[in-house]
Amino acid sequence: MKYSKIINHLGEDRDQYKHSVAPPIFQSSNFSFSSVEEMRKGLAREFEEPFYTRGNNPTVEILRKKIAALEQAEDALVFSSGSGAISAAVMNSVKQGDHVLCVYKPYSWTKKLLGNLLSKYGVMHTFVEINSVADVERNLQHNTKLILLESPNSITFEVQDIHGICSLARLMNIRTIVDNSYCTPIFQQPITLGADIVCHSASKYISGHSDVVAGIICSSAEIIRSIFEQEYMTLGGNISPFDAWLILRGLRTLKIRVEASDRNGQKVFDFLSNHPKIAKVYYPFNPSQSSYETARKQMSGCGGLISIELATEDTEKIEQFCNSLKLFLLACSWGGYESLQFPQITLYGSQNYVTTLPKNLIRLYVGLEDIEDLLADLAQALDKI
Ligand SMILES: *Cc1c(COP(=O)(O)O)cnc(C)c1O
Repeated sequence: MKYSKIINHLGEDRDQYKHSVAPPIFQSSNFSFSSVEEMRKGLAREFEEPFYTRGNNPTVEILRKKIAALEQAEDALVFSSGSGAISAAVMNSVKQGDHVLCVYKPYSWTKKLLGNLLSKYGVMHTFVEINSVADVERNLQHNTKLILLESPNSITFEVQDIHGICSLARLMNIRTIVDNSYCTPIFQQPITLGADIVCHSASKYISGHSDVVAGIICSSAEIIRSIFEQEYMTLGGNISPFDAWLILRGLRTLKIRVEASDRNGQKVFDFLSNHPKIAKVYYPFNPSQSSYETARKQMSGCGGLISIELATEDTEKIEQFCNSLKLFLLACSWGGYESLQFPQITLYGSQNYVTTLPKNLIRLYVGLEDIEDLLADLAQALDKI
């Protein structure tokens, strides 16, 4: 189905709600029935029809249909955070005694899910630097039941060969999950490359306006039903109808937003990669990054995330550079309309976050501002050090 048809029409039952163009927010926790018999039937169809909003809700359902179609998946579930979605997908895939093979530097809370939480319940894991399918093959164990990929990840942008790894996993009867937050379905569709499950932080590009925390799982009808009946309903990580509505609103412009962020990102990359005060630039379409060919093969764009290492290790100068940037707000997250910076130096000495990355590394997110203004802002901050 064409993108615009999905965005504008799929899942929108306008004659059910007085032909309003924007769907209503069904801000109701529960749904009533006309008889005991109808209620009994409703209870049996909790997965298919609204009964209680921890399970199904009509506003959320519109979003589920659109997201699934965008990822070319059969079905989807929407969660109150990306971490909630990833946790539910992983927990659905393993039991005590199983082993998870995970990329070396996943999102910080994905790392904690495996390292701190699931290890308490007897689920084992290894974090593996994956530069080839052979790296995966070499690190499989007899009890590996899940391969967890994040391609690219959201700080240093390592890319894995999704098709190659998922093909191997399929042969070995191992489930695969790909965190596709970086690319969104606009630039990469892991299900078409053989992945079993795709997860997203919808707090980033998908909602796109820095006003919602949410997550998504896309997969086969069978896996989604299983996650619904177990992790989704039990752990209760459902999204609120209002937040689902905000994400629907964000989705209308997803394509033009990520494309604009991508165009700006490429220009910022060109500017930074030739700048004498920058030692290193991380970017999936950086030809000197070892996974460049794979990135070009499976991604049709990059978006606005770029990390830099300044050509200084001096704490004062690093902080001076960051403090001098005016348009790049000092904040976590990314994927909104506004440019942001996340300096690794803020993690140094932290109790909760461990970083192995250098202190002169700054993750930039390039938003939708005028590119001349962004380049001028970077230039003046670099001039100060
Ligand atoms: C932000 C992020 C997450 C976590 O999502 P939340 O919505 O913040 O819970 C997971 N994976 C990646 C790659 C992310 O960038």
